[in-house]
Amino acid sequence: MIEIDGSVGEGGGQILRTSLALSMCTGQPFALTRIRAGRAKPGLMRQHLTCVNAAAEVCGAQVQGSELNSQSLTFKPGPVQAGHYAFSVGTAGSCTLVLQTVWPALMMADAPSHLKLGGGTHNPMAPPFHFLERSYAPLLRKLGANADLVLRRLGFYPAGGGEIEVTISPAKGQLQPFDLNDRGAKLESYAECFAPALPRSVARRELEQLGTGLGWSHGQLREAACRQNEGPGNALLATLVYEHLSEVFTAFGEKGVSAEQVARQLIREVRDYQISTAALGPHLADQWALPLALAVWQRGSAASYTCTALTPHAKTNFEMIERFLPLKFTTASHERHWTVLVQPAALGA
Ligand code: AMP
Repeated sequence: MIEIDGSVGEGGGQILRTSLALSMCTGQPFALTRIRAGRAKPGLMRQHLTCVNAAAEVCGAQVQGSELNSQSLTFKPGPVQAGHYAFSVGTAGSCTLVLQTVWPALMMADAPSHLKLGGGTHNPMAPPFHFLERSYAPLLRKLGANADLVLRRLGFYPAGGGEIEVTISPAKGQLQPFDLNDRGAKLESYAECFAPALPRSVARRELEQLGTGLGWSHGQLREAACRQNEGPGNALLATLVYEHLSEVFTAFGEKGVSAEQVARQLIREVRDYQISTAALGPHLADQWALPLALAVWQRGSAASYTCTALTPHAKTNFEMIERFLPLKFTTASHERHWTVLVQPAALGA
């Protein structure tokens, strides 16, 4: 039983999700205490409980402590079963984080799976649907595991009601790790504004401000088609497509925050990425670690990547992965980027 203190490092839900994902992939049970002790409302919120229940259903785990607000959990996984699954958070909590919990195990299963997920699709502090579709899934495809994602309905806080469908096809044979140290040539960049059930002027102002700030033309600024009943909600997205990867940056509107402030927030994030030459932005850098580590573990060969920043989320994720897999992460800082090397622990000793 691997014992994990949920208050270490970043101290949030990612420790839980990474533990669940790797427990399913390796068959190792774990006991987690002080769940999300670093957050204002610690313990399992509805969204985290849905992650636990989804993981337990996919691998027939024996679980103790899977209740709302619970601050400790034991999870003894069984064999992962590919199949048809439906998981709904039941609130506006992020359903993309539920998907990310079960995705690694299902991409290593022995048959394809079909998932229906319900909840928030574009939540602050979580990967938005379009980030998973354009940034994360293509990298997993390069590891050898295909996934097709469809957004059926947008879901924003507080109404929720979003729906995503995903088909995950496991790799034929082992996953294939690869280095991701540069972006390659820039192919295109564009912005989209999702603003269902909000005045048209919100999207127009956000896109105009973004276009001015980044020097993007009208053709690069798009008002995304939304249905009124998907709102109210507001997400402003910038997608940067390169030869080797795509990055999606997102800013969220909320009451009391002007359209111009939302755009300025996104301009900062895009500029931070543009002044560096590293491959991955800060969010992809923490999320890429787990699937890449699984490939390195299966193949026994090292892989590296560069990123613009090494966040507490990334560092904590590396530590969690090292608890479950016999791997070692080594990082080095450079003037405007970081390098991350993941290799079998025996090689790194
Ligand atoms: P936690 O705060 O521990 O629940 O983890 C949140 C996760 O969501 C981390 O993996 C973050 O990288 C990810 N995340 C937060 N905001 C974004 C964003 N705008 N785009 C992509 N991923 C995000």
